[in-house]
Amino acid sequence: MSGTDAHTLAPSYVCGVSDTPLIGDTIGRTLDRTVARFADRPALISRMHGVEWTWRELAARVDALAAGFLALGLRQGDRIGVWSLNRPEWTLTQFAAARAGLILVTVNPAYRRSELEFALNKVACKALVTATAFKTSDYIGMLTDLAPELMRDAPGALKAAKLPHLRWVIQIGGATVPGAISFDAVSARAGEAERAKLAELNATLQFDEPINIQFTSGTTGSPKGVTLTHHNILNNGYFTGRAMRLTERDKICIAPPLYHCFGMVMGNLAALSLGAAMVYPGEGFDPLLTLETVAREKCTALYGVPTMFIAELDHPDFANFDLSSLRTGIMAGAPCPIEVMRRVIERMNMREVTICYGMTETSPVSFQSAVDDSVERRVSTVGRIHPHVEVKIVDDQGRIVPRGTAGELCTRGYSVMRGYWDEPEKTRDVLVDGWMKTGDLATIDDAGYCNIVGRIKDMVIRGGENLYPREIEEFLYKHPKVQDVQVFGVADDRYGEELCAWVRLREGETATDEDIRAFCRGQIAHQKIPRYIEFVEEFPMTVTGKIQKFLMREDVEHRLGLKAQKTA
Ligand code: AMP
Repeated sequence: MSGTDAHTLAPSYVCGVSDTPLIGDTIGRTLDRTVARFADRPALISRMHGVEWTWRELAARVDALAAGFLALGLRQGDRIGVWSLNRPEWTLTQFAAARAGLILVTVNPAYRRSELEFALNKVACKALVTATAFKTSDYIGMLTDLAPELMRDAPGALKAAKLPHLRWVIQIGGATVPGAISFDAVSARAGEAERAKLAELNATLQFDEPINIQFTSGTTGSPKGVTLTHHNILNNGYFTGRAMRLTERDKICIAPPLYHCFGMVMGNLAALSLGAAMVYPGEGFDPLLTLETVAREKCTALYGVPTMFIAELDHPDFANFDLSSLRTGIMAGAPCPIEVMRRVIERMNMREVTICYGMTETSPVSFQSAVDDSVERRVSTVGRIHPHVEVKIVDDQGRIVPRGTAGELCTRGYSVMRGYWDEPEKTRDVLVDGWMKTGDLATIDDAGYCNIVGRIKDMVIRGGENLYPREIEEFLYKHPKVQDVQVFGVADDRYGEELCAWVRLREGETATDEDIRAFCRGQIAHQKIPRYIEFVEEFPMTVTGKIQKFLMREDVEHRLGLKAQKTA
């Protein structure tokens, strides 16, 4: 064996060393420390909602809300859902739930009736904090469709046939429906007893207790509740923020949604643990509002999935904004195009921008580029291993492959979830000896830099949002004319990927793509409705009967001339 061979045979295993220990504490007590250190520094700014709170003001509201939750009868370990776009109330709910020891269930605001019903029932949510409406999303309308009892039952005494565990609906803004209580009224319910109870909880809650459930479909169809502790997400937010050298002098413009770990962990908890300010440009993503917000608030960091940065850079008014306050930020969630990274560094002044790689099940971040990595490394890799985290790359037998060889990325350490809520078997499938099998294909080079080269699972990432073909297939199977259906991703120059469905109709039936789309509308989130719907007689299959989605993808991309961008 030559010297070079021996060198390249170093195993693909990396372990993050750091002089900085993990935070061994709860989210609530970490908030106390931040308030003690930075009481009068800005904590949360959301102009659209008229909010500009210091850490002292934010903490006072969080405490009042947490005591209010206790007054409603919510108890440690109870699940409380939040179903809203980015608003200050979302963050108050996140921090107050953690303070009171409640498990926050983050519900995707794009969910529609059947998805909401599934999520709330799966984890037995006792309370739901919900927005009233935003643009075309009528949250209260959908909720009362699902639970008409909300128009009749008294607040706190809801007994809905389809949502049997839900007692409290806490409504943000709007005219409160009879069975709901307004968000603002919750704090007023608390008395001395609840405040004393809260102080006691603050002293006794343990950082290994679950505090958050986030829904993901992972490697298989139906959404699973990723169960995460204080320790998981607080530390991940902290080390992600530290990698950008965030301090109390930084202001993070958080454009990604709060319901996802990008917003709530890498945004909110990085801010909470380091004293930086959270700045929300708007409820849903809007490139113009984001640019305006960065310029007006003089943000120093900006977060987004690649498509958000593309929309900002390509905005016709881009040149009108002074972005000179920006220094750093994060691009993550999907493969990050090299060209876009270069433009972000040069045109948005984000010279210390980082790329993060991770998944919800690992809190999420496990790789991140460093602010002083070379530009070349920063645009073409997802950086190096995070502090206190281990990663190995394995072949299909579970054996570690040599550096530079592609294999499945597996993660171990403080950041790995407790498991999927009430799904021990599905948890065992992905969590082996403490290692989380990510389903992503990656390589690690000799210097420890990681490249994500593909996905074992057939998940589709459209504009940074994960879409799971099997979940959509399962829904389409319900169409009476559909015999069989396969959903897969095809390249798209704007969103990275788009969904395509191949449908086999039942014998003698006819349908148009519009019929199929109409069946989906209002039932599943609009992003899950396939952009391309084609009718076929058969699917390409192997001799052993395995459907070959990659052939379908090639066929569609070739016929329609579809291409994605070059990525890191
Ligand atoms: P989620 O659980 O929603 O955070 O999605 C996790 C998945 O997104 C990962 O398993 C990857 O497939 C993908 N992903 C996240 N970050 C990156 C990145 N920087 N580059 C490539 N893929 C990524």
